[in-house]
Amino acid sequence: MASAELQRLWKLARIDTGLVEIRKRAGVLDVGQKIQAEIQQLETLLAEVGGEAHALHAEQRDLELRQKTIEDKLQKFSKEMYGGKLASSREIENMEREIESLKRQRDREDERLLELFELVPPAQAKAKKIEDRIADAKTRLAARKKQAVLDKTALEQEFARLTAARPEAVKGISPILLAKYEGLRQKSGGIAMVEVNGSSCGGCGTNIAERTLQALREDKLATCEACHRILYFTTGAI
Ligand SMILES: [Zn+2]
Repeated sequence: MASAELQRLWKLARIDTGLVEIRKRAGVLDVGQKIQAEIQQLETLLAEVGGEAHALHAEQRDLELRQKTIEDKLQKFSKEMYGGKLASSREIENMEREIESLKRQRDREDERLLELFELVPPAQAKAKKIEDRIADAKTRLAARKKQAVLDKTALEQEFARLTAARPEAVKGISPILLAKYEGLRQKSGGIAMVEVNGSSCGGCGTNIAERTLQALREDKLATCEACHRILYFTTGAI
């Protein structure tokens, strides 16, 4: 069993370790960075896929308009042809040629229109799927952000609680031991005292020498040879 003073120091060390852990957790708090990146990727994809769908649809609309124009022209010509307004047979020949040319153009564009009728719906559906995935990711992001606020508040409360408990925990520790502890804390990433796990250091995992284990059994102050942290053990630990 560790001495009463070492037990008090261990209590302080657990507070300080808790503070270090809270800082670490606050530093890596998930505020939705991953989901945000996912949304950005999807938006890039949507710009591409949606752009394709949009271009195909625009082409379809253009062709439909042109077909309408051709049909109007054909109707107009056929009225003129059979309305008896044309004077010469040459004018009739010209018009017939023009009608043939318009019909050929209409047939060519009809083929492309049929292709577009096949292409546009799946392209639009593909874009819609990506839009749905973006909407879903945005919902998840909002929930994650909300949770992050709660997580942050909980960490802040725990940090405040431990900070408030610290002055009381410092009491009853001799100035010499406290100075040693504080010095180690500065050098050891805020954690200056660790528990012994079996026969290894709970801080760095190094095996503890037998003479150190013996000192601990004799209730003496001992440190890890590798990381220099103060070692704490309880009955049964070693
Ligand atoms: Zn160590």
